[in-house]
Amino acid sequence: METATQGEESARAQKLDGARVAAAIKREVAEEIEGLRREHGITPRLVTVLVGEDPASTVYVRNKIRTCEELGIASEHHHLDAGKTTTASLLEMISSFNGREDVDGVLVQLPLPAGVEESRVIEAISPEKDVDGFHPVNIGRMIQRRPALLPCTPAGIIELLEREGVEISGARACVVGRSQIVGRPVAELLLQHDATVTVCHSRTRDLPSVTRQADILVVAIGRAGFIRGEHVKPGATVVDVGMNRVTDEEEVRELFGAGAERRLKTLKERGYTLVGDVHPAEVERVAGRLTPVPGGVGLLTVAMLMKNTLTAARRRRLVE
Ligand code: NDP
Repeated sequence: METATQGEESARAQKLDGARVAAAIKREVAEEIEGLRREHGITPRLVTVLVGEDPASTVYVRNKIRTCEELGIASEHHHLDAGKTTTASLLEMISSFNGREDVDGVLVQLPLPAGVEESRVIEAISPEKDVDGFHPVNIGRMIQRRPALLPCTPAGIIELLEREGVEISGARACVVGRSQIVGRPVAELLLQHDATVTVCHSRTRDLPSVTRQADILVVAIGRAGFIRGEHVKPGATVVDVGMNRVTDEEEVRELFGAGAERRLKTLKERGYTLVGDVHPAEVERVAGRLTPVPGGVGLLTVAMLMKNTLTAARRRRLVE
């Protein structure tokens, strides 16, 4: 759906509204949850596990639990002491969740503390309860285009583009970043939606010359404000996945230019402000559409987690 006034020239990119799309997805999930409860007496349950005190992870898990409450999903949270948690103890816990009939989704918040083997933990979660969509079985099924629980952030990006009327089929898409949880799966999903996809990474030569060809540019690298105006084709759709905490006042001024005041206020109140991988002031002047940070992809990730929990419950309990 186009929301810009047709024919009106603007020096600022239109907002690609993650909040609006996330709200729509959550509304749909809440309705289905209510239907499951009414017709089958089923209330989906999500178990979350947080190990340690990482501040960003704490916020993410809190948001996930709050959203469960909002949508009528039962949640159960386990906060573990990093010093007392081993790979073995976590595997034992996951095994108990796998065996419980009332548990539909198991989410272990990443990253895990050093010493706990992340890949073994991910693989221990039953694929049918792997609502993060990180289990190799779900990744394999996704690549084979078979029913799978899809990774939340990549699936959320596709929902955002589709629901906001961005044409993926035939577009040149470029993904910067090739992580297992964002870059690779989003490239795969864009390909499945018939984009012509290029994946860039830290060894890519002359990055701006590659990214500048993209009609859809997805950035997931983890470096605040790294993608500048010179990386972006005029009018392109830019999806900024990055979530970086910036604590330096000068950096905030440089990133936000004339719009820095509100961010400086946040910085004073919280000690940091959240910035994506895209340079907001510069890219806003070049891109046609741009996701805000915060208020963009992060909200979609949570919405898609809820959708996955619903899907997991339906598939497991109703034998769909
Ligand atoms: P990773 O650190 O796992 O991967 C980063 C990727 O970026 C790597 O593939 C790396 O290349 C590439 N990269 C790093 N530097 C450059 C560079 N100078 N030029 C080109 N490519 C580069 O990150 P994640 O994918 O886990 O996360 C990326 C960002 O997204 C982070 O800010 C994270 O917080 C955020 N995130 C946000 C989510 C949300 O819900 N909004 C969800 C998940 C993540 P190489 O492989 O060569 O090392």
